[in-house]
Amino acid sequence: MRELMVNLGERSYPIRIGSGLLARAGEQLLQAGLSVKSPLLVVSDDAVAPLYLDGLLEQLRSSGFRAASCIVPAGEPSKSLARFEEIMTKALEHGLDRKSAIVALGGGVVGDLAGYAAASYMRGIRFVQMPTTILAHDSSVGGKVAVNHPMAKNIIGAFHQPSLVLYDLDTLKTLPRREVSSGLAEVVKHGLIRDATFVDWCIDNAERLLALDAEALGYALYKGCAVKADIVSSDETEQGVRAILNLGHTIGHALEAVAGYNELHHGEAISIGMIGSAMLGVQLGAPQEVYLRTREALGKAGLPVSLPEHFDTDRIMEAMMHDKKFGEGKMVFIVPTAIGEVEIRQDIRQQWVRDIVERLKR
Ligand code: NAD
Ligand code: MG
Repeated sequence: MRELMVNLGERSYPIRIGSGLLARAGEQLLQAGLSVKSPLLVVSDDAVAPLYLDGLLEQLRSSGFRAASCIVPAGEPSKSLARFEEIMTKALEHGLDRKSAIVALGGGVVGDLAGYAAASYMRGIRFVQMPTTILAHDSSVGGKVAVNHPMAKNIIGAFHQPSLVLYDLDTLKTLPRREVSSGLAEVVKHGLIRDATFVDWCIDNAERLLALDAEALGYALYKGCAVKADIVSSDETEQGVRAILNLGHTIGHALEAVAGYNELHHGEAISIGMIGSAMLGVQLGAPQEVYLRTREALGKAGLPVSLPEHFDTDRIMEAMMHDKKFGEGKMVFIVPTAIGEVEIRQDIRQQWVRDIVERLKR
């Protein structure tokens, strides 16, 4: 098992990554300071629950916990106020008190939804993340929790740190291939931001990662979480440096907004976005290697590295203008200066970005 700490004073918490951790969940919760006197609520989705929920509930009960569950449909639409209310109802019915915890068993959707419920119930109760996707190494660390409004994603939310992140690698074996690659996009991103050696490692070990080799995955998730934890520890509520985690996301979000449902998963969109950022970086003086290595790392992880021809540049630019990162013809953009290093630029011209979007189609 690997362990690392997110250091946030009295809100600090451990991330534990390894095989067989769900089978020790009860003991882990007790160690994290939870009491069997207060009931738990486990939130999951209807793709993950049939695989792992019964085993987890049984395990928690054998450790003396009373645990109920709430299962939402798999997919982004479950990050809604309607599902949030459902969780509140379950929490009340089951008698959750101020010392209870809500446990998220699933990917980022379940984590964000359950986390926001935990942040709100009785003005905030404890929260435990049990991520089951690779992407959730990103969403389960850092304390951003939210649901969507029909008009905007992640707009109703809070900062609410978990008490524990328990990452059982065995659960990843059932992930669909596309979800594996999509999650690896954020893993590679964490390398591109902070750790050139780790980018090399990702390139050399891409096949093992795609084959879900437990040792390789454990290391990759540990490194990805470590970069995220380090950045979050120095900027908990995104006043400054935390913005570098948005590498590839300005273009990526616009592509997601323009793409048809299911055409591009988040990781696929930010993969193309990171290629665009690398092109921009080279244009602004970074060595050509930045583009080549970025492309190699993402391509080997099974991710798209160019934009399908049919994407309309005008619509992509429009979507970017709706994004909060825009102002006065200039954009805020996270730009790589070397592999493992990025800077926050406030002076990126719309025209440069438009040219990059065009180049991404070639
Ligand atoms: P997800 O939770 O929808 O999971 C993807 C799919 O995989 C779902 O259909 C799910 O049912 C299925 N699945 C999950 N675990 C599985 C397993 N072990 N075996 C088989 N199937 C499994 O999506 P995600 O990619 O994990 O997360 C995306 C969400 O995370 C988005 O809503 C995004 O906004 C959010 N997010 C939040 C943060 C944050 O800081 N809070 C950061 C990044 C992303
Ligand atoms: Mg992301």
